[in-house]
Amino acid sequence: MLSLFGEHARRRGLIALIALVAIPGLAAAIVTGLDSARFAAAQREAAAIAAAQPAIVPLEGPIVVAVQPGHWKIDELPAEHARRNRGIGAVYAGVRELDINLAVVDALVPMIRARGWTALVVPATVPPGLRADAFISVHADWGADINRNGWKLAPPWRPSPAASDLAASLRAAFASRSELREDVGGITVGMRGYFGFASHRYTNASSPYTPAALVELGFVTNTTERARMVSNPEYYAEIIMDGLERHFFSWSRSDAASLVPRVFETMRISEEGGAAFLTPDAGSRVVRRLEPGEPVRPVDATDGWYEVRFRDPSQIAWIPSSALAQDRVAAATEADGQGNL
Ligand SMILES: [Zn+2]
Repeated sequence: MLSLFGEHARRRGLIALIALVAIPGLAAAIVTGLDSARFAAAQREAAAIAAAQPAIVPLEGPIVVAVQPGHWKIDELPAEHARRNRGIGAVYAGVRELDINLAVVDALVPMIRARGWTALVVPATVPPGLRADAFISVHADWGADINRNGWKLAPPWRPSPAASDLAASLRAAFASRSELREDVGGITVGMRGYFGFASHRYTNASSPYTPAALVELGFVTNTTERARMVSNPEYYAEIIMDGLERHFFSWSRSDAASLVPRVFETMRISEEGGAAFLTPDAGSRVVRRLEPGEPVRPVDATDGWYEVRFRDPSQIAWIPSSALAQDRVAAATEADGQGNL
């Protein structure tokens, strides 16, 4: 009822209020009438919102794993991805990334099925709102320096707890192979904002409730890694399978809340300023000095650390929570942060 006497009708409302107070029975009748009319409208609105955004229903039946050989059928991308439809992926020394991605997925699909799970193979054009218990896009990287090597993988920006667990499980599987190294700090903005799971921007993207990760197996430009990826795609399929098993062992499918992407408020760097690190580890390289009071909007978090995407220069880095001021920045700056995606 407050808005009836709100900003716009304050004066007239005051007069009406005086009149209503003078005739209590009439006031009650009018108020009741208005309330039920408003309630009906609010109910219709709620129903419309619910219809547009169905509740998150955990999947039933066998576990569904969607795998995407990166860049597969890239020329069939719809108009919304027009500028990407020539992105055939890395090529070096006669080896195409696409062929590596396809061979790894070829080896992975029977492994998923042997476990009793359902395997979906997804082209570059992701079916709109694709639901799966896990969605993994498989890639191999290209480096200007042929000595550069290592795997890396990333969940979307602001991942759901399930997506974070999927990425952590895959990371643990890769890290358990002592012959491989991680391309630490190599995760790019393009990986995190990968169009195949950027559901807030594109129709042809997986559902925000599908835990997703983009995996870069290694570098086609590195002699050792190129040879391993070409000759032994099963080796990489086994690592991904190991990661999936770790994830489904630790994550409960019925936990619908774990499928909701996380939301982070804008925060400020403390008055003392601070440093942003390459990884959530104070022993890792400092990549940026933080100005006292500088606003930051996290894209991910882990114990005691917040991951932030900076612009100018474009960087993804980790801030210890001790470097953050306790007060929160006004909601006005939040809309600005949405552009990060
Ligand atoms: Zn790729």
